[in-house]
Amino acid sequence: MPDVLAPGSSDLHVWSIPLRTRFRGLTVRDGLLVRGDAGWGEFSPFWDYDVAESTPWWRSAREAADEGWPAPVRDRVPVNVTVPAVGPEEAHRIVTASAGCRTAKVKVAERGQGLADEIARLEAVRDALGPDGAIRIDANAAWDLDTAVARLVVLDRAAGGLEYAEQPVPTVADLAALRRRTHVPIAADESIRRAADPLAVARAHAADVVVLKVQPLGGVRACLRLAEQVGLPVVVSSALESSIGLAAGVALAAALPELPYACGLATAQLFTDDVVTDPLLPVDGAITVRRTAPDPAALARTAADPAVTARWLARRDAVLARTSGAGDGPDARA
Ligand SMILES: [Mg+2]
Repeated sequence: MPDVLAPGSSDLHVWSIPLRTRFRGLTVRDGLLVRGDAGWGEFSPFWDYDVAESTPWWRSAREAADEGWPAPVRDRVPVNVTVPAVGPEEAHRIVTASAGCRTAKVKVAERGQGLADEIARLEAVRDALGPDGAIRIDANAAWDLDTAVARLVVLDRAAGGLEYAEQPVPTVADLAALRRRTHVPIAADESIRRAADPLAVARAHAADVVVLKVQPLGGVRACLRLAEQVGLPVVVSSALESSIGLAAGVALAAALPELPYACGLATAQLFTDDVVTDPLLPVDGAITVRRTAPDPAALARTAADPAVTARWLARRDAVLARTSGAGDGPDARA
């Protein structure tokens, strides 16, 4: 590991791993691993998240490192394959190579692409999945209300039926309005994880499903409390993490009382490498519930360069400075 981590470097590691396909505008993902009494946790907020928005990600890492997670109620978590905004041949290949996933989540509303690209992608995914598979789309809040209404008619047809549409429009009010104008079920993602009030979605009857991500929502226990308050079906998704961060999502999915949909946790497939020897990849469409630990050789292979490492340590310090000022006990330890 780079010298910049010393002293105490055996309890911290900054990784940097290229992605197989450009995703969320990224070609490489990086993050900080931290070790505590209970194991390893991951702190990997996206770079467009400021210190305040990154703070729950740190709480999640500390929960994993210091406390571990609540007991699971299931030992396997069904997962979806994720299809980025690729051409139809590649989309077909990704679904076919997806280790038995029976649900596909397809990215739509990609900048620079049009309706024809989306139709071709969805048709290819349906062809690869067969008639029994489930297809959901994710627009990442890119459409306005009228565009969403029109697109859902066309894309529902192209997909041979959509399981749901994830965050087609940005605001809770528009999600609620859209829900009254389409038969396609609506899932809320950004409206939960980047919202000051994640319960607004439920109060406004703005979604049929909520997507919960452990790091941005502050840990597994925080997500379990939120799920109970929201009272809607939950889909647990990753924040494009290494298999250390993914394990927290798997722990949440394993601990939820009910899990009616496949989860978005098969994203280790999008990475070219991992920090563990045995990544959290699906077998027969599901991930086996287990705790992961980094492998020394994998850590050496994926170690970030000194500049990226220094950026992550500065980021952690900024979060710590913020939380220690607020007297946030457990956060002050690392
Ligand atoms: Mg989403």
